[in-house]
Amino acid sequence: MRYCSTRGDAPVLGFDEVLLTGLASDGGLYLPEAWPHFSAADLDELAGLPYPELAARIMRPFVVGSVVAERFDLLVAEAYAGFEHAAVTPLKQLDARLWLLELFHGPTLAFKDVALQLLGLLFDAILSARGQRLTIVGATSGDTGSAAIEACRDRAHVEIFMLHPKGRTSEVQRRQMTTVQAANVHNIAIEGSFDDCQDLVKALFNDRGFRAELPLSAVNSINWARVMAQIVYYFAAGLALGAIGPGGRRPLAFVVPTGNFGNVFAGYAAKRMGLPIETLVVASNANDILARFFETGALAMETVVPTLSPSMDIQVSSNFERLLFEAADRDGALVRSLLDRFREARRVELGEQLWQAIRSDFQGFRLDDAGTLAEMALRRQESGELIDPHSAVGTAAARSLELDRRLPVVALGTAHPAKFPDAVEKATGERPPLPPRLADLYERPERFEVLPADTEVLKAHIRSRSALAGAAA
Ligand SMILES: *Cc1c(COP(=O)(O)O)cnc(C)c1O
Repeated sequence: MRYCSTRGDAPVLGFDEVLLTGLASDGGLYLPEAWPHFSAADLDELAGLPYPELAARIMRPFVVGSVVAERFDLLVAEAYAGFEHAAVTPLKQLDARLWLLELFHGPTLAFKDVALQLLGLLFDAILSARGQRLTIVGATSGDTGSAAIEACRDRAHVEIFMLHPKGRTSEVQRRQMTTVQAANVHNIAIEGSFDDCQDLVKALFNDRGFRAELPLSAVNSINWARVMAQIVYYFAAGLALGAIGPGGRRPLAFVVPTGNFGNVFAGYAAKRMGLPIETLVVASNANDILARFFETGALAMETVVPTLSPSMDIQVSSNFERLLFEAADRDGALVRSLLDRFREARRVELGEQLWQAIRSDFQGFRLDDAGTLAEMALRRQESGELIDPHSAVGTAAARSLELDRRLPVVALGTAHPAKFPDAVEKATGERPPLPPRLADLYERPERFEVLPADTEVLKAHIRSRSALAGAAA
């Protein structure tokens, strides 16, 4: 499979290059040159497969030419062996027609594990085959950091430096990062904000001299391989509910709590590949740029407000660019000009044609914090389930939107309630316990350095701690 950029002006690459590169050289995002398509007969053959085998079948077309199938299948099996549930992403029924797709049974209790556990193994395998090693540097306000660290820990060909703003992540989130005891994992608490952390990471990536000393990479949400791995659970839900498989061809709806648009774009990809999805609901919190877009056809940036669902506190959803490219019939020049205008004016009208094209697959929904708390309380009352504030934004959408009554609705459960215990307790009066394997999280020793928000200090620190810088010297 070959991949092209959404801005049409970067080299076409194979899967392994796309994995290691992340962003395209023209500033665009990579997408497969053509979507693989599963016929009804292909879909029938997926029935009853365990998750890792289903995952391998769905993803194989995307890695052809870069990873041989037998090797890939083993990596996929290893990636999902560490999940706590035999179904990997089980479905739990919440009411007559609503199912919660629980994506939080991985090591850090959030859906990002589903993609990142595989990504860490793929990075390591491809680097090993090339005889290369890489240093991953990232900034996190909470969630992504721990998932990336768990993905990279103990891998021979990568080391990871993760920056978080000192004292500004929740204690669960900090401990999930700082209690990982692995020689290739380096946590740094920066005396500053999340923006300071991001600026530091950007400064490193823009520093050619430093990158010549130490090859850097990122595992951020624009990486195609993350979207790829997320396509699988849409098919898994479709099979479980009889949307596909022998005798089945019954459309269904998905509701997706959305931030960077990666997860919901994976649903769109599943639809392009043959899963009968009637509609994809993009559920937002008070940071509702996408909900406003579905209403008006304009993307208009506002300032980010903090909410109870912090992983969705985003105004510019980077993966939306992938959808724009598809809706614009893959016109990279048009995508570039629209996004340039958006960046300059902080607002752009997409025009009737693009707007309607997007609305034929998606609809928007927004919910503020008060609504989120009310939804969490109501689900507890109705079904006995504690759900996290991100997932609650989605289940509320399923409750209040007028979706065809005959459609089964699947809401994506993006985090375990114990990951956001304060919000859950505020809504329901109950504090969700950590699952057994994390029960001693508060007793585990922490390991991190505290540094000022200073690029030179950070560079010196990384040089002194990096096994790879040592090897190069
Ligand atoms: C990252 C995240 C989201 C948003 O997912 P995107 O792919 O960025 O849209 C939603 N909920 C939780 C818990 C997350 O960690």
